[in-house]
Parts: sequence; C-alpha cells; structure tokens
Amino acid sequence: MKNVAVIGAGTMGNGIAHTFAQSGFRVQLIDVNENALKKGIETITKNLDRMVSKEAITVAQKEETLANITTFTNITEGVEYASLVVEAATENIDLKLKIFKQLDEACPEGTILATNTSSISITQIASVTSRPDHVIGMHFMNPVPIMKLVEIIRGYNTSDAITETIMDLSKTLGKIPVEVNDYPGFVANRILMPMLNESIETLYNGVAGVFEIDTVMKLGMAHPMGPLQLADFIGLDVCLSILNVMYDGFKNPKYAPCPLLVNMVRAGKLGIKSGEGFYDYSESRKAEKIAKQFQ
Ligand code: NAD
Repeated sequence: MKNVAVIGAGTMGNGIAHTFAQSGFRVQLIDVNENALKKGIETITKNLDRMVSKEAITVAQKEETLANITTFTNITEGVEYASLVVEAATENIDLKLKIFKQLDEACPEGTILATNTSSISITQIASVTSRPDHVIGMHFMNPVPIMKLVEIIRGYNTSDAITETIMDLSKTLGKIPVEVNDYPGFVANRILMPMLNESIETLYNGVAGVFEIDTVMKLGMAHPMGPLQLADFIGLDVCLSILNVMYDGFKNPKYAPCPLLVNMVRAGKLGIKSGEGFYDYSESRKAEKIAKQFQ
C-alpha cells in the first residue's frame, strides 16, 4: 500500500494526511473547498515546523512529508491510484452516502474505503457501495499526529482480512488500534459525548460558569482539558451531529442534545474553528491574553 487518498482537509483530514505522509505514504488530499486545502497544508506545515523545533523530526523529514502530499478538488482525479481512501468530510449522513457512492465508482476494485466518522453507521455507509466487505471505520483522535488511539470499527459486512489489514496499517503509522463493533457512537463517543452534553446542561441550568465547570473536571478528575474546552476543540457542530446520531439510533432521551448546544450551533458559534464557542478565540482576545503576560 503506497497511495492513500484522504477526503476532507479540515481539522481531522489534514492531521490524517500529515500522519500518513510522515510514514512515507503518498497522500492525495482532496477537498471540494480550495481554501480548506490551502489552510490544511498551512496547518500541516506549522505542525511539522513545531516538530522540527522540538527536534522530533529533521528539516529533511519535514520536506519529505510535505512532498508526499498532493492536493485535489475533484474526488475522481484524486482516488484513481489509491489502495486506501480515508474519508474525513463533514459529519453528515447524506454527504457521506453521496461520497461513498462516488468513491465506489471511481476507485479500483480492491481499494479499501475507510471513514473517520465519529458516529455514523459504517454498515449504512457500506450499503451504498458494491464492496461492503471492504468498508471500515478508521476513527482517528484529534490531534491526529499526536493521539495514539485509532478506533477500528467493523461494519456488519466488513471482512476479517480487511479488518486485519487496517489494524496492521494503523500500527505502521505508530498508532494503537482497538477493534470495536458498529453501534451509534461506537465506544469513544458513546462515553465522551454524554459527558460533554451534561457539562453544557450544567452551564445551561446555571449551576456554574464555563471556567468553574472546566476547573472542577480538570483539577478534580485529572482531565487534561475541561469538557467545555474539549467541546470547543472538537467543534460544537460535530458534537451536535454525534449526539443526534446517538439520539436517533438508540431512541433514548439521555442522548438528547442540550438546547444551549443547539442554539450555539445555529448562531455559528462552533468553537475554535469559528473563533468562538464556550471560549473566545478571536485575534483581539489572543492579543489581550499576550498583553496580560507582560503586565
Ligand atoms: P471539518 O468541518 O473541520 O472539515 C470537514 C471538511 O470536509 C471541510 O474542509 C469541507 O470542505 C470538506 N468537505 C465537505 N464536503 C466534501 C466533499 N464532498 N468532498 C471533499 N471534502 C468535503 O470537520 P472535521 O472536524 O475534520 O470532521 C471530519 C470527520 O471526522 C467527521 O466525520 C467527524 O465526525 C470526524 N471526527 C472529528 C473529530 C474532531 O475532533 N473534530 C474527531 C474524530 C472524528
């Protein structure tokens, strides 16, 4: 396996492309949005520069990694020679079904089609292709170049051979794969999202403020990040989509998204990626923080 196509150059897609390219794979990074591709390459370059400054990699390794990545805005061009496609486009079922139909038509017969979906059914995604045994969940964690875990999700029809190939491949990327079955939210988000939702509900009910909730969980539970900060980091729209998939999938009100989360997404407050969520990430706020350090 030499050629890997990555669909989507957003938060996860650029990290996945970075990880494969750094391990010597030729990566075709595809996004319908040219600006997302530009930003994706900028992010990869910035992250590689940080690794060089920490002496984790050499300048030559940085250059090799960047040289391994080619960008495309058209799926059919980018996947032509891929042995594996990892889809990391927006978390939306209709979009993913459309992309997998396109991939099935455009990719060679033996190409493995993986999705980085956080919660959508692998079995349902596989059902729109002619190769459901070759469709699998490859759920990387954010930030991809740093986080070790990959949740490998077997759809109802995923073959043993494909599962083994993807488990082995994840290890060659320096990751630790864990095999799980295909139920809404899989394992990671089935446990994480109710906690994030409950933190938002706690804020919504006026029990405590953003800083207080995050501090309780950081200092009291030894979490490296508070839950509201983590929700901003993941993207509030992504959190809402995952909760909705679990709510629909289990028909259980315990997964119902908090109305505050719904409202914030409607208002375009998506967390870090939009500049504001539970915290303010705007340039003026950053400048204010830097100024405070010198006071
Ligand atoms: P994002 O919004 O940052 O990026 C999505 C990208 O997909 C955008 O650049 C968009 O232009 C692109 N896109 C949309 N339609 C496309 C198409 N038809 N073809 C190609 N590209 C297209 O989203 P993200 O946070 O990177 O999430 C991507 C996937 O990864 C989702 O399925 C999400 O659930 C999953 N995921 C996210 C996280 C996280 O922490 N954000 C963690 C694990 C998994």
